Amino acid sequence: MRREGLRSLLPHLRDHRRPLAAAAALSLVTAAAGLAQPLLVRRVIDGVQVGASVGTAVAAVVVVLLAGSLIGAVQQYLLQRTAEGVVLATRRRLVGRLLRLPVAELDARRTGDLISRVGSDTTLLRAVVTSGLLEVASSALLAMGAVVAMALVDPLLLGVTLLAVGVGVAAGVGVGRRLRELARTSQERVGAMTAAVERALGAVRTLRASGATDREVDAVGRAAEQAYDAGVRAARVQAVISPLVGVAVQGAFVAVLGVGGYRVASGSISVADLVAFILYLFLLVMPLGQLLGAYSQLQLGLGALSRVEEVLALGEEDPGPRADPPPARSATPGPAALLELDSVSFTHPGSQTRVLDGVSFRVEPGTRTALVGPSGAGKSTLLGLLERFADPTSGSIRLDGVDLRDLPRAALRARLGYVEQEAPVLAGTLRENLLLAAPRATDDEVAGVLAAVGLSALVTRSPLGLDAPVGEGGVLLSGGERQRLAICRSLLANPDLLLLDEPTASLDARNEAALARALDAVQQRSTALIVVAHRLSTVVDADQIVVLDAGRVVGIGRHEELLESTPLYRELAMTQLLVAD
Ligand code: ADP
Repeated sequence: MRREGLRSLLPHLRDHRRPLAAAAALSLVTAAAGLAQPLLVRRVIDGVQVGASVGTAVAAVVVVLLAGSLIGAVQQYLLQRTAEGVVLATRRRLVGRLLRLPVAELDARRTGDLISRVGSDTTLLRAVVTSGLLEVASSALLAMGAVVAMALVDPLLLGVTLLAVGVGVAAGVGVGRRLRELARTSQERVGAMTAAVERALGAVRTLRASGATDREVDAVGRAAEQAYDAGVRAARVQAVISPLVGVAVQGAFVAVLGVGGYRVASGSISVADLVAFILYLFLLVMPLGQLLGAYSQLQLGLGALSRVEEVLALGEEDPGPRADPPPARSATPGPAALLELDSVSFTHPGSQTRVLDGVSFRVEPGTRTALVGPSGAGKSTLLGLLERFADPTSGSIRLDGVDLRDLPRAALRARLGYVEQEAPVLAGTLRENLLLAAPRATDDEVAGVLAAVGLSALVTRSPLGLDAPVGEGGVLLSGGERQRLAICRSLLANPDLLLLDEPTASLDARNEAALARALDAVQQRSTALIVVAHRLSTVVDADQIVVLDAGRVVGIGRHEELLESTPLYRELAMTQLLVAD
């Protein structure tokens, strides 16, 4: 259950109770210093009038003034620092959750929107803590004090006051609630705008080439305009709040003067009582304006917080049974793994079609299995199930006899290497990319795998060597280099089983040969290999080829056997499997 409103804020403040309490205490001291000021000044004036020495009294005024300002500054700093701390802790929790969400959940969401929750939504929390919370608390205290004093003077007049002020405050609070929704809408639109920027920057070359830059700039501009609209609507609502309070305050004064005058005339209260009451009324309404201002600030923050909470309420990917001890990178390729698929079917949640339908086959240790089939047959989905980005809808997958669901996810993934079709390369250096799965691999090991897949030249290309940058998404590398870099990255972790989604794009002959050598290098490490193959050179050497069509296995065997037995394979071999020239 998602918590609503103020209560959802409390968990974010829990770790900051002490500094918040200290800031609150300091603000009381500052207020007391302020209240003491007139009394001290009065004493100075009294002293001057009777001709007494006023040196100490003047010194007291100066000391209280300076001390009050100093404490005020400390209180401000403490509050701001705490607010930054709240933002920091929330960002940490949010990012910790985001990067651990189930893959399917992330696939269904817009990255830009998630980024904006981490950046922009959490920022609004800062204002909640600084101008919202503490002001609400201190103004409320002051107002309550005034109400108590008024009750002592004349309960009837207090009733009249509360009625007038109450109507105004209730209206203000009602409008303030609307503010929370508007803030949420506004933040959602900021999220949509960030997503639009991300989409455009992610395909900037295609945009330029397609002459679509101007249109995309307009699209982002429109998203920004929508955020503007929501912001302006919120401003309108905020603007309504202060006149509402003004009307309530004036109403209260008129009512108190009217009813009070009548009560003085009828002898129920004295003139002094009425004057005291009106002075207290000032004390009540002054913090009231502040209170509603802080309240609207709070509503804005709560609107943004609900977007943060929404992500925090999502479940993380279940890590599976506890690994004890936690998996460490094996120093050498481990015992080759035996993989068995038993009637594996898979349907995407919310979809009707079976992407995989009763798939069964075995992968013997140290062998190469090629998955072939027309596009959309379910090959990539199958690799995803092996990595447990999702689980089969029915059937089971076993690694060395153990169902994957009974293995801790981290332990399973430590045994598998996975090279996506797009072979993602992270912005950063060659070294960062290579050491992603094996942070402790030595430079010698790195040089070894780079040589095995024919990438040694990458290191000598720049004087920076392994610390040379690869560019955003690896744009400084060629497609073939990215692919083999990703293979190196997997090999450094010494997986027992390497999953490789071969690029569908044609590589040139040299890259093709380099990839073939890389695959041989993989097998020399006695690692079993499952490769989604789009190339004849990859399948002819495979120990077994599994032919998939619309999620079903239509043939298993070696190249020659399948050419004889499976018409689809024959067709694929002749038309689709790419042959290097
Ligand atoms: P291959 O790798 O063989 O080309 P994929 O495994 O990528 O095939 O895709 C198999 C099928 O799954 C495709 O028809 C695709 O449209 C479908 N698919 C992929 N993701 C989803 C999803 N989230 N919801 C429903 N269907 C999906």
